[in-house]
Amino acid sequence: MSTSATTPASVSSKIRVSGLRKSFGSNEVLKGLDVEIAEGEVVCVIGPSGSGKSTFLRCLNKLDEITAGTVVVDGYDLTDKNVNLNEVRQHIGMVFQHFNLFPHMTALQNIMLAPVELRKGTRQEVRATAERLLERVGLSDKAQARPAQLSGGQKQRVAIARSLAVNPDIMLFDEATSALDPEMVGEVLQVIRDLASEGMTMVVVTHEMGFAREVADRVIFMADGVIVEEGTPEQLFGNPQQVRTQDFLSKVL
Ligand code: ADP
Ligand code: MG
Repeated sequence: MSTSATTPASVSSKIRVSGLRKSFGSNEVLKGLDVEIAEGEVVCVIGPSGSGKSTFLRCLNKLDEITAGTVVVDGYDLTDKNVNLNEVRQHIGMVFQHFNLFPHMTALQNIMLAPVELRKGTRQEVRATAERLLERVGLSDKAQARPAQLSGGQKQRVAIARSLAVNPDIMLFDEATSALDPEMVGEVLQVIRDLASEGMTMVVVTHEMGFAREVADRVIFMADGVIVEEGTPEQLFGNPQQVRTQDFLSKVL
């Protein structure tokens, strides 16, 4: 029960998911997920294609409707029909496999768009923040470049900067490096790594097992819409308990 649709309650955890179910028609894709994520925690989600990883992330900012269960993010109960989704989404940034930058806008303009619309400050302030973000992702010299003039890795770093521009408390990454040429994966993972060390709360769906092992506080292995197993990277990669986890890891490691 929330006291108000717009005021976050005090929270001990940044994300609290209980009994989350999601169906598309008769296809139940998430079959009761329970997940609690603390402030500053980095959780990597791994698992075979089709296991519901993207759907899970999309339920965390209600890009997908929630069929049953509760999802509380930064104190906002997403199953409360009065919840202000625009407000919630300022707390949660999301980065996808494909960058979805506006092709007719420069890198700087792409980053400035949301904070200008949301009146996050004067135009000069928003611009200064956007420039700082470009510097943070190592692209100060690309402010005036359009997406077509950028490499895949550069585009994804602009997309991350754009997500950070509304100053979110939580970042969700859905296979942010899967569409990149191998030589560009590292530069994007480095930006995510930096965010982790700055204490950003993150849920990272990834196929990069080395990265998950290095950066995650916790790794969740999903299959067929359930959490099969979770633990520290040492536990999950070093000593998986479930046969399905062992099978998956034997194929990808
Ligand atoms: P993953 O990210 O682990 O590969 P997804 O969450 O994308 O898995 O998909 C899980 C299942 O949900 C798949 O069977 C997929 O076909 C189905 N699914 C995902 N999105 C939709 C949708 N918008 N409509 C119908 N089915 C969907
Ligand atoms: Mg997916």
